[in-house]
Amino acid sequence: MEITVASEEKAILQKVWNKRPLIISGPCSAETEEQLTATAERLAKTGKIDVLRAGIWKPRTKPGLFEGVGTKGLPWLQKAKKATGLLTTVEVATAKHVEDSLQFDVDILWIGARTTVNPFSVQEVADALKGVDIPVLIKNPINPDLELWSGAIERIQKAGIKQVGMIHRGFSNYGNTEYRNAPMWHLPIEMKRRFPEMMLICDPSHICGNRTLLQSVAQKSIDLDFDGLIVESHIDPDNAWSDAKQQITPETFGKMLDDLKWRSETSDKEDFVNALAKLREQINHLDDELLTLLSQRMKIAEKIGNYKRENNITILQTGRWNEILQKAIQRGSKLDLSEDFIAKYLDAVHLESINHQNKIMNS
Ligand code: PEP
Ligand code: MN
Repeated sequence: MEITVASEEKAILQKVWNKRPLIISGPCSAETEEQLTATAERLAKTGKIDVLRAGIWKPRTKPGLFEGVGTKGLPWLQKAKKATGLLTTVEVATAKHVEDSLQFDVDILWIGARTTVNPFSVQEVADALKGVDIPVLIKNPINPDLELWSGAIERIQKAGIKQVGMIHRGFSNYGNTEYRNAPMWHLPIEMKRRFPEMMLICDPSHICGNRTLLQSVAQKSIDLDFDGLIVESHIDPDNAWSDAKQQITPETFGKMLDDLKWRSETSDKEDFVNALAKLREQINHLDDELLTLLSQRMKIAEKIGNYKRENNITILQTGRWNEILQKAIQRGSKLDLSEDFIAKYLDAVHLESINHQNKIMNS
């Protein structure tokens, strides 16, 4: 009997883990049994949620803030799961967190951004997971360091965990910006390249830090072929004990899911496949031309390098560089290219050009 129940539970977990999109929601923190139960019930009622999340131990940036209810909240999750059928997930940062979560049948563990950043902590969690069969989601580190993120994944995999996924929750920055944690989309895209088979889900709540941007960030992640979402929800968002500004009610989240445009990576429709292939062919052709032109540009820069060497002139002339930049920004705005893009593009071209000239001048 025991074995049947256990294998049935494994099969359900397997099915949920493989479901696309995978939808996780729940409060930033479990606060009281009533709050958690009501959130779980209202989330389940939407019929769109797979996994209930709740922070039990909260890594707060400053002392004196609510640091989570601790182990006593785990039976609340267990009860909520029984009542709703939602699987559960909890953030773990120490061996004790892992042991307690396993004892109370948490289905999926996640490693938070402040833990991923610390190899000692990740290793402690990995050691506690040796011989355990449980899926683990790993958030990106708070700083934009892909080696730390990959390193944490490798540590957990080395401990024998087979089901590992990634959560993109953005990267912290200094000062006030539009986002609480800048999404820097090119970084999760690079992780997808490094781990093509691995699940990657988006956490718009911690990227945005507010409610207004949630929908557009979630949509962007879907457009980038992410595998699911983890969004914080609360029965009374304004009075949440942590992350009040970014939480939404379970019903608002349900509506948000309805309004998202779900897309798939491929389609079998012949018209679409042919049209896409043609357009991609054009892009390949243009990319090739752009590279040829850039190479020609570097050859000219090298010629200039020769003249500069003969006449003992510095490589960098700030006036000339400013002139190029200003002209390009003006021209770019007419061609519908953003100032930000032009600046980044020319910066890269300029640096490459300097390197080419440097080789000539010091050869
Ligand atoms: C959380 O999920 O509530 C949390 C603490 O997130 P992060 O680790 O992304 O800051
Ligand atoms: Mn939170």
